[in-house]
Amino acid sequence: MGWQGRVLRIELGAMTAKEEPLNMEWAERYLGQRGLASKYLFEEMDPKADPLSPENKMIFATGPLTGTFASTGGRWSVVTKGALTNAIAASNSGGYFGGELKLAGWDFIIFEGKAPHPVYLIIRDRDAQILDARNFIWGETVWETEERIKKRHQDPMIRIASIGSAGESLVRFACVMNDTDRAAGRSGVGAVMGSKNLKAVAVRGTLGVKVHDPERFKTVVREKRAKLDVHAARERLGRVGTHAMIDNTHAYGSLPTRNSRDVQFEGNPKVNAKAAHTPRRSDNKPNVIATKACFSCSIGCGRIATIDPEHFTLKSEENKKRYGKAMGGLEYESIFALAPMVGSDDLDAATYANALCNEHGMDPISFGGSVSAAMELFEEGVITAEDTGGIELNFGNAEALCKLAEMTGIGEGFGKEIGLGSKRLCDKHGRPEFSISVKGQEIPGYDTRAMQGMGLAYATSNRGACHMRASPFVADFSNLETEGRAEIVKNTQDMASVKDSTGLCAFAGNAWDIADYADQVDAACGGSWTEQRMMETGERIWTLERQFNLRAGMTKADDTLPERFLKEAAKTGVAKGRVTELDKMLPEYYHLRGWTEDGVPTNETMDRVDI
Ligand code: SF4
Repeated sequence: MGWQGRVLRIELGAMTAKEEPLNMEWAERYLGQRGLASKYLFEEMDPKADPLSPENKMIFATGPLTGTFASTGGRWSVVTKGALTNAIAASNSGGYFGGELKLAGWDFIIFEGKAPHPVYLIIRDRDAQILDARNFIWGETVWETEERIKKRHQDPMIRIASIGSAGESLVRFACVMNDTDRAAGRSGVGAVMGSKNLKAVAVRGTLGVKVHDPERFKTVVREKRAKLDVHAARERLGRVGTHAMIDNTHAYGSLPTRNSRDVQFEGNPKVNAKAAHTPRRSDNKPNVIATKACFSCSIGCGRIATIDPEHFTLKSEENKKRYGKAMGGLEYESIFALAPMVGSDDLDAATYANALCNEHGMDPISFGGSVSAAMELFEEGVITAEDTGGIELNFGNAEALCKLAEMTGIGEGFGKEIGLGSKRLCDKHGRPEFSISVKGQEIPGYDTRAMQGMGLAYATSNRGACHMRASPFVADFSNLETEGRAEIVKNTQDMASVKDSTGLCAFAGNAWDIADYADQVDAACGGSWTEQRMMETGERIWTLERQFNLRAGMTKADDTLPERFLKEAAKTGVAKGRVTELDKMLPEYYHLRGWTEDGVPTNETMDRVDI
């Protein structure tokens, strides 16, 4: 219960769709979504496979609470080997698609092989059909794809997850998008979908989700929702979203700026949350005009925004029509990557670039990080205007940012180079140190010289640099010490692993502790899901992901940080004169995990975590 007990297996090469039972023995040990899908991936594919080959598998995975009325119960994940990272990828999305998939009766869809030509999948409850996408949606944007599917199948309520041209042209940081602006955004899962010739999955579900103890579930969910409702973080996230974080990182000196050459951004007042909520002169409207929530969510951190009608991006009639409307707005990670990281203080340019990322299906963090790396290559004279097709790629050039968003999205000109991601781009030009990435994935919005725990979290994250895999925020914003960070990072990694396996959103974790997640899982699934069992499950998931990466060929050498964070001291902020002291934290972290000095889980650890 909680689980639907059904997996839809799509063999794309043979164009077949088959139903099979969910492996409940594994579900009891890996729960759902990220954890359980990682177990399937680990058991079913060779981790050494090229992520863009038919040998890679891709799983659309819900958790036991996805599709229920638990607050934030609309989360789902894409689990595969990442095209950007060559590591296991579990990319988490919200919106309405995941809930709809669960309501249609499915826990997972497993995609295998590669279709002989572009296709899309349509699911109406238990019925699934693979249809031809040629001369219909292949080549179209995410937004157009959603419109056309709804029209052809005469159902405005159908929910769609799809790739744009970025996924089709194998941009290494392409996303799987759903509900126009929600994304399974990181690690290049959209490129994997493109490599399979799979354009979209459309789903309509009417079957409901059964839970183990309906009365208790109702009571527990109401209790947790009430706890969430009165929490200050819920109010803040609803009012200003995650965008408000930019004032904290700027003040502290942990705001990645100009490809992390700097840690504070003088243009912050023009791009912070206050700026986004201040009416502009042209039409007296602010950038953010409304908020929105995912399926069943009582927080509602999503933003709806508009671009200033007088901004240069809306000069042409075509653009006015296309982007002069309300669209998905900026959150902290997108504003940091599309403004300070590229040295631009143009809020509207960031909103435009973010819209193009949504429309073409690109991760704005990796896109911004790849543009900033290219800007450093340009400023250092490694590449010239001849390479960029005439674009003057200096830090702060907002027009260049917007142009590259257009070109990368459709794989044109120098956009193709940006689409490699910063690591492949900088390696190609012999300057790997300009890629501010871990395991090939561009960093999110925290400079680790001022946030030592986040440094360890990035270095050890199983999917490359990530701010959602561990939560050392409270300690990191308190002091610059390294002591105790290994324990915080390990514990919060285990916590995040199991939370990402429930179907609930990590942001609810501002108000809920792990016991609150456990109570809801237990009422839905039965079986003594205590806090302890949740933490044990989290550690098992983390260790399994580690094993996948080791089998894929990764080693201790991949648990590192951009050279800049280890060797170049921060110029300003609280960490002025400091670097990230990873060497002080990593050995303790390995020890706490029960791994060898080379970062390999020992046999005793494997037995203890029961893999
Ligand atoms: S908190 Fe934000 S991201 Fe999470 S489910 Fe709610 S609206 Fe979606």
